[in-house]
Amino acid sequence: MDRPKTMTRRSFLESTSCLGAALWAARLFPVNAMAAEVASTGRVSLQPLADKGFASVRKIGDGVYATISDLSKGFETLSNGGFIVGTDAALLIEGFRSPAGASFQFDTLRQVSKAPVRAALDTHYHFDHTLGNAYYGGQGIPIWAHEKTAPLIVERYGPGAGPEMAKMKAGTEGRIRDAKNETERERAKGDLKALNMVSDSVESSVVALPNRALEPSKLPLTVDLGGIEAVIESHPGHTPSDLIVRVPQRNVVFTGDLLFNGWYPATTDANLSGWRKALETFSGFDKETLFVPGHGQLCGLEGIATLRSVFDDLADQASKMYKAGIPVEEAQQRYAVPERFKGFPIFAWSFCIGPAIAKFYEEFKTGKS
Ligand SMILES: [Zn+2]
Repeated sequence: MDRPKTMTRRSFLESTSCLGAALWAARLFPVNAMAAEVASTGRVSLQPLADKGFASVRKIGDGVYATISDLSKGFETLSNGGFIVGTDAALLIEGFRSPAGASFQFDTLRQVSKAPVRAALDTHYHFDHTLGNAYYGGQGIPIWAHEKTAPLIVERYGPGAGPEMAKMKAGTEGRIRDAKNETERERAKGDLKALNMVSDSVESSVVALPNRALEPSKLPLTVDLGGIEAVIESHPGHTPSDLIVRVPQRNVVFTGDLLFNGWYPATTDANLSGWRKALETFSGFDKETLFVPGHGQLCGLEGIATLRSVFDDLADQASKMYKAGIPVEEAQQRYAVPERFKGFPIFAWSFCIGPAIAKFYEEFKTGKS
């Protein structure tokens, strides 16, 4: 295998040309294109504190900053994140896809504060939220995560994960070969590119594990940073390892990937009923809440409502096909993106749509919904 060990943006774009179609669509919208409600409150600073192209950092409240990725300019961060700064300490959120992403966020924090960093928190185990951990580790920053995050990182990205990844790639190559039509073939190609993105990211990183495991039974955990508090909560749904960070004094919530704003959600590891329950909970938050999603732009409650309607649509279409006796493999391909979600990026069909349909079928079979 002659895959480059060090990934440049160029090689990444080349290796993800198909996936790229979805990712380009997710490019950063200017602030004035954000939900009018969010922009009109004046809470989001128009001028970024720092802009590296692949991500920019904006002040979104006193002592609260959001790091928003721009995938049209690179994949160093890939996910969103941010940080919270008090008079005594700071808390970084997300390890991103690479040490370069984590380093950008840390350097930007240092522009506004010299306070010691209490921790960097991974909202869940996925590669685009954890592979930059090694940078934080090198700075002597403790890494906090849900107790399931470290074991899942080892299982999925550790030295023993190679054979499983190879099997998944071989299966996907088989699907490209045996596709019944061009749409299926294109989707399978996109799936392979997404798998390559994951394995290339892992191979070009030193995988570093969180060193403080947060047990859900001991959450919520309130972290006093000096004049500002961060509250860490567990809401498993997107993966078994999801955490969110609330900043009640500023009405801000960092959701991790429980919120994909204006995207189709990645559902491979999802517990859909747990996820939908979490979104229902979020929809009851204060109506002025500003959400920093795992992917997509900053938003208010309307972002939560939109993702809930994406799930409703996936469930409705799955239900109709289930009742019509359509086999699950066929249903996974037959799901039709409705007009209102047409512009939503899909990371890969078999990371987003396929597993969602299969999971709904499973729920219908076991009578869970
Ligand atoms: Zn994720």
